[in-house]
Amino acid sequence: MTSQRAAVFHGGRDIRVETLPIPEPGPGEVLIRVGAAGICGSDVLAFRGLGPWQHSADKPGRDGHELAGEVAALGAGVTGLTVGQRVAVEPKHLINCGGCPPCTAGRVHLCRRRGYVGDTHVTSEGFAEYDLCPAGRAHPLPDHVSLAAGAILDCYACGVHTYNLVESPPGSTAVILGAGTMGLTMGQVARSNGLKVLLTGMTRESLDLAVKAGAADEVALVGVDDVAAAAAEFTQGRGADLVVDAVAVPEVTLQQSVELVTPGGHVCVLGVYPSPPRLEPHLAYVKEVSLHWSNSYAPPEYVTALDLLASRSVNADALITHRYPLDRIVEAFVAAEEKDRSLAMKVLIQP
Ligand SMILES: [Zn+2]
Ligand SMILES: [Zn+2]
Repeated sequence: MTSQRAAVFHGGRDIRVETLPIPEPGPGEVLIRVGAAGICGSDVLAFRGLGPWQHSADKPGRDGHELAGEVAALGAGVTGLTVGQRVAVEPKHLINCGGCPPCTAGRVHLCRRRGYVGDTHVTSEGFAEYDLCPAGRAHPLPDHVSLAAGAILDCYACGVHTYNLVESPPGSTAVILGAGTMGLTMGQVARSNGLKVLLTGMTRESLDLAVKAGAADEVALVGVDDVAAAAAEFTQGRGADLVVDAVAVPEVTLQQSVELVTPGGHVCVLGVYPSPPRLEPHLAYVKEVSLHWSNSYAPPEYVTALDLLASRSVNADALITHRYPLDRIVEAFVAAEEKDRSLAMKVLIQP
């Protein structure tokens, strides 16, 4: 067999499943038979024609950076992996040069040449039957970790990185704005580190899931509950030690984060703002808020996320609500886009 089915992104909502050659693993590479690939919030932004990661009719592209599967073939010189082994794949857009100042400091996700191999920009192509990755980016999964859970390790690694940026001692209070996958994975990571979490969301269902999945101690329903009052009660009037903006609503959530945080506390933006957010700086000044932006993660944080999954400290399977075959990828994107209607949390493509 030399051909495969693969999704090609022609810009916005134009996604076509096409027949393409199965790539051959070069030296140091591994061919992965994709078992599951998650639709990321960034993928949905592009589907809606928003955000920085768009394809176009002139320049179609491939996507799918949250993936896990089985090793299908090994390139020359690859050791330590075997055909048939189950692996999670660290995304290729985080490949780095290894030599620039951020790379030397271990912050390889801030590499100026991030996602480049030579002059070619690379990205994982998990919305397909097969994908290639450098051997060092394929991480064997323990038997009890499902491929579906392995596929969303990327989301957990973002949570681990956010936690590392703002490291708060056990017992600290965290308010997480947003009950999507990033909010829930962040909540699980925070709670596994001993933080107490109040999580806000737009639907009762997503908040019920947050509690069931161990992502929150308490929840507040936006538009029904008084979030400020709930946060005040949760923090005994002090304000939250940490607020994570995992939803990035331009008119609302950055300002709200500053309002909810305790004086001297940390706000970390984990969502992706599609346009400039509203922020009245005076309150941030008065409180001397430390404002962080969380962008991806470094490889050790991916490994920490895998350890959290392997030790059952976080529950990834609980977050996976929808699964679609590759041929129905557009339907899957619509479910991921219209979460209030579909009640989707994480949507997976299983090619
Ligand atoms: Zn992602
Ligand atoms: Zn670099």
